[in-house]
Amino acid sequence: MEQSAALHDLIIVGGGPAGLTAAVYATRKMLDVRLITENIGGQVLYSLNVENYMGYQFISGPDLMDRFEKQVEKYNVQRTFAQVKSVSKERDAFVARTETDEEYRSKTIIIATGKRSRTLDAKGVERFVGRGVSYCATCDAPLFMDMDVVVLGGGNSAITAAYELMNIARKVYLINRSPWTADEVCLEKIRDAANVELLVGYQLTEVKGDTTVNAAVFRNLTDNSLISLPVTGIFIEIGLIPNSDVVRDLVTLNENGEIIVSYNCATSVPGIFAAGDVTTVPEKQIIVAAGEGAKAAISAYKYLLKEGKHAVASY
Ligand SMILES: Cc1cc2nc3c(=O)[nH]c(=O)nc-3n(C[C@H](O)[C@H](O)[C@H](O)COP(=O)(O)OP(=O)(O)OC[C@H]3O[C@@H](n4cnc5c(N)ncnc54)[C@H](O)[C@@H]3O)c2cc1C
Repeated sequence: MEQSAALHDLIIVGGGPAGLTAAVYATRKMLDVRLITENIGGQVLYSLNVENYMGYQFISGPDLMDRFEKQVEKYNVQRTFAQVKSVSKERDAFVARTETDEEYRSKTIIIATGKRSRTLDAKGVERFVGRGVSYCATCDAPLFMDMDVVVLGGGNSAITAAYELMNIARKVYLINRSPWTADEVCLEKIRDAANVELLVGYQLTEVKGDTTVNAAVFRNLTDNSLISLPVTGIFIEIGLIPNSDVVRDLVTLNENGEIIVSYNCATSVPGIFAAGDVTTVPEKQIIVAAGEGAKAAISAYKYLLKEGKHAVASY
């Protein structure tokens, strides 16, 4: 069990666009920074095409995050790959505890833990996860070459999944309970595809199979009738929930579980800052998360100066 005696200036939890950008900005202010994260890249690793990050007309998510990581490596960021289980405040220090009971202490902390997929509670779903049911189209789509699949959801993630799958699977049913919430520019990409069928007003009631999935049963929400689709893959893309559990009892969250932040990424607790998708900042985009990460790092630095806990650094 590692017990770091060091009191860092800043701990950053999360290695997505927000956390990595915060790491660069903070080390350029000569802060002593520890980045604790489960992975490098976060949700961007699941994005095959990024077409809206400035400076690149087109880049894959993993390539973009590889470039972020290389930039972080230019600076003295101490990295720990672990899941943070809790954050607490003990006298003048914040303590981040990992799942293996390692403890790291700091004067300030930035929570940049992003979001994760919302799970679906319907008969058979849990039993078939990894055996036909998937929460990650980018990861699992290649396993469904020339097969018939369902994508559940009506937002951008669901449309992105259907777009990826339509070039791999034989038939893609894109099904949502309520009207589409995806951007029109995303919907346009799949609307005219010969092998994509869009259905609105249907709810998944059961996943059937023996060792793997062989059917999905849906209820028509208008007349309550049931339809059974003979599919071998079911991709669940019904939204994301914020990874705010680590500070649930410490800072104020909104009704969706997002960390409430001010314009400068401050939370309800002085010294705790938050950035990116885990916060109330409305637009969940890479460029926004990166910008918020930069703001959070500068805010943490200014907080340390104001509290007399750090000397002025050069830019
Ligand atoms: C399929 C898909 C496609 C997308 N396409 C685009 C696109 O084309 N353009 C665009 O701008 N945006 C896109 N987005 C949105 C974009 O990916 C997010 O807005 C962005 O990744 C948010 O960055 P973040 O750093 O706030 O969080 P995340 O990317 O979610 O990163 C969070 C990080 O925190 C870590 N973490 C979480 N909890 C813990 C913990 N307890 N302990 C330690 N580490 C933890 C994770 O491992 C991860 O490294 C897409 C999202 C998805 C899901």
